[in-house]
Amino acid sequence: MINQHVISIDPEKFKVINLSDYTTWGIGGPSASVVVRTENELVDTVGFLNEESIPWIVLGRGSNMLAPTEGWSGVVIFLKGHFSEYFFKEERLTAGGGAHLPSVAGAACTKGLAGLVFAVGIPGTIGGAVYMNAGAYGSSISDFVEKVRVFHSNGLIEYLTPEECGFKYRFSSFQKSDSIVLSAELKLFKNQKSSKKLRREVREILQLRRLKFPLHAPNAGSVFRRPDFGPPPGKLIEDNGLKGYTIGGAMVSRVHANFIENTGRATSSDVMNLIELIINEVEKASGITLVREIRKLGEQI
Ligand SMILES: Cc1cc2nc3c(=O)[nH]c(=O)nc-3n(C[C@H](O)[C@H](O)[C@H](O)COP(=O)(O)OP(=O)(O)OC[C@H]3O[C@@H](n4cnc5c(N)ncnc54)[C@H](O)[C@@H]3O)c2cc1C
Repeated sequence: MINQHVISIDPEKFKVINLSDYTTWGIGGPSASVVVRTENELVDTVGFLNEESIPWIVLGRGSNMLAPTEGWSGVVIFLKGHFSEYFFKEERLTAGGGAHLPSVAGAACTKGLAGLVFAVGIPGTIGGAVYMNAGAYGSSISDFVEKVRVFHSNGLIEYLTPEECGFKYRFSSFQKSDSIVLSAELKLFKNQKSSKKLRREVREILQLRRLKFPLHAPNAGSVFRRPDFGPPPGKLIEDNGLKGYTIGGAMVSRVHANFIENTGRATSSDVMNLIELIINEVEKASGITLVREIRKLGEQI
């Protein structure tokens, strides 16, 4: 399934990777990939791939992503270099699309800037967090976003306001486009809490997450979105007796039923079959149709 064409054009630039090494589920076969470090490199690369009609996707830390076991015939783009950087100016934070969210959130706390404590345990990038409107404990990244620098695949680079990003619960308009988050500017706030207190909150959150989530096994966080009404997905799944239910190497976590663990040799089909089964069982029992939060590589909703 690897795109041999693109590799043969420039084997120095386009490398074969195993997607299982780049997703937190540890699932996925071979794919072509490219690392870009500057906006110019990204613009050139996307322009070239579009001209060649080769599908592409930007992958962050793969912490919300199911990649096909049989591999992918497109090109996975990684944002590194300039895109991994972040800096603070008073209460404002500018972070590249490839910056590691827990590191950025931790650095903000160390500076005594509040707001991002919720994000210290979300193992993605700034780009992935904006795309997913990641959140926890009643806060989402959109609560702090002032503007987002984006690259539209027609070549245009511009800043979008939060309204233009169409943020909703675990949703942004990026999920319906192929625009790339280059960086985000966030407005945090100084409050009475010292950086020492913020760091204590960070430790408490990380401890809580270690207890509540199956961090011992490869997973991709919550599989389903919280429905608009009714109990949370974990409760609905648990009430159906599905904790521990296994298909192939994919198992409904015994620690938190809204997580699916890769017990060792799960394939992407195992995970998808388990997801379908959960949706059907929960729908039969409660009338609630669970909606997937995790993304399948290459899909657009
Ligand atoms: C243990 C664990 C705990 C988690 N806890 C939470 C939680 O508390 N709250 C929460 O909201 N999520 C949580 N998640 C899910 C996940 O970490 C978030 O959704 C995160 O924001 C995904 O970021 P990522 O960089 O890994 O994105 P990826 O998984 O790499 O990609 C997700 C989507 O974003 C797109 N994307 C990534 N970068 C860009 C970019 N620069 N421009 C455009 N599109 C981009 C990708 O194409 C893909 O469609 C958890 C995951 C794990 C494994």
